[in-house]
Amino acid sequence: MPHVSPSPAPALFLHDSQRRATVPFQPLDPAHIKVYYCGPTVYDLAHIGNLRAMLTADVLVRLLRTLYPRVTFVRNITDVDDKITARARANGEDIGALTQRTTAEFHQDLASLGVLPPDIEPRATHNIGEMQAMIARLIENGHAYAAQGHVLFSVGSFPSYGALSGRNPDELEAGARVEVAPYKKAPGDFVLWKPSDADQPGWDSPWGRGRPGWHIECSAMSHRYLGDSFDIHGGGSDLLFPHHENERAQSLCCFPQSQFANYWVHNAMLLVEGEKMSKSLGNFLTIRDVLAQAPAEALRLLLLGTHYRSTLNYTQAGLNEARKTLDRFYRALSSVPDVPAAPVPQTVMAALEEDLNTPKAIAELHVLANQAMGGDREAAGALKAGGALMGLLQGDPAQWFRGESSAEEDAAIENLITERLAAKKARDFARADALRDQLQAQGIVLEDTKDGTNWRRA
Ligand SMILES: [Zn+2]
Repeated sequence: MPHVSPSPAPALFLHDSQRRATVPFQPLDPAHIKVYYCGPTVYDLAHIGNLRAMLTADVLVRLLRTLYPRVTFVRNITDVDDKITARARANGEDIGALTQRTTAEFHQDLASLGVLPPDIEPRATHNIGEMQAMIARLIENGHAYAAQGHVLFSVGSFPSYGALSGRNPDELEAGARVEVAPYKKAPGDFVLWKPSDADQPGWDSPWGRGRPGWHIECSAMSHRYLGDSFDIHGGGSDLLFPHHENERAQSLCCFPQSQFANYWVHNAMLLVEGEKMSKSLGNFLTIRDVLAQAPAEALRLLLLGTHYRSTLNYTQAGLNEARKTLDRFYRALSSVPDVPAAPVPQTVMAALEEDLNTPKAIAELHVLANQAMGGDREAAGALKAGGALMGLLQGDPAQWFRGESSAEEDAAIENLITERLAAKKARDFARADALRDQLQAQGIVLEDTKDGTNWRRA
């Protein structure tokens, strides 16, 4: 993809959670953009709610790469967490084996959706030393204290606490639903380090054998790989408080001259058929559950069909609709022989530069598809290029219509089609019709054209 040199007037606008406004994106260094996203806690298969943040990041990073010469995208793996310990115990599985297996599954799921891997994917357990160094520094600076094997961040020591999520101190206390513990000086203080018993993963530290709190992980890893200040920090809106508020507090108190993340990008939550996804409601959908019933691009298109800051309602009807839209786009591509290479169309680019307006960008793909179906080759090229920027229309149109099938199945279908053509040539129309009916019964739809017979799965 061609690089456009950054112009003084920035083209990209992003909604920044901290400024609570959609603002022009001004990089700290236009020669090198730095992005951090909170990654998964690896103890189970990823669900479609997790996917939404990963997909928002994917489109954002793809767009940044077309606008700037260099982008470093860091997304961590949380591989130490009490949920992981509990699951390993329940499975009778070694913790390392569980995190390795679920990390590999996460990678496979994202790869099948065309989500590009991050440039750096640090694991929490490989960064314990960095976390301990930050904790020591916070104690030194008077922003943290050790008590009964714990180290706590002193929220009262940081006047700007709450500025990111926009909560006042009372709301903070209510929202945190903090447990009152004897080792806490104030109920809102949060854990940086906690003691581990013999059955729990732990590392030696100046405060005894223990393990890190979740929030300190991201402060340590973003600092190690992106430095004191970086451009964009992202994640789901459920992370805004307390996770991101706490990350910001830790990092700014550790490195007072820095600004930590310059822009905060948060995607809204996902509902399933209008309800919050939960295991107890039986509407909990892993990425794999959806991929068992629809092509990956259909799931991708469905998720991108709602703007990332609006609540997304995942429905079976929406998934079917996304599939039909892709049928239409692939039909437009297949209506033009040898789709020419083309730059990303300006209309699609402009929509994405407008705070990642993916629904608008998809509407622009429809305009191009209409033109392509009218025989406009350039429009077909632009459709393919515009789709690629959102990770869509990456497949071969013929393959799309044939769906997932084995080479043997395809060969059997091709044989029946050849036999039918031979029957037609011999003017044995009864036989030809019988073969068509036989294929139809298998869900195969034939389309006779002057160049031969195309087929697809109904
Ligand atoms: Zn994080």
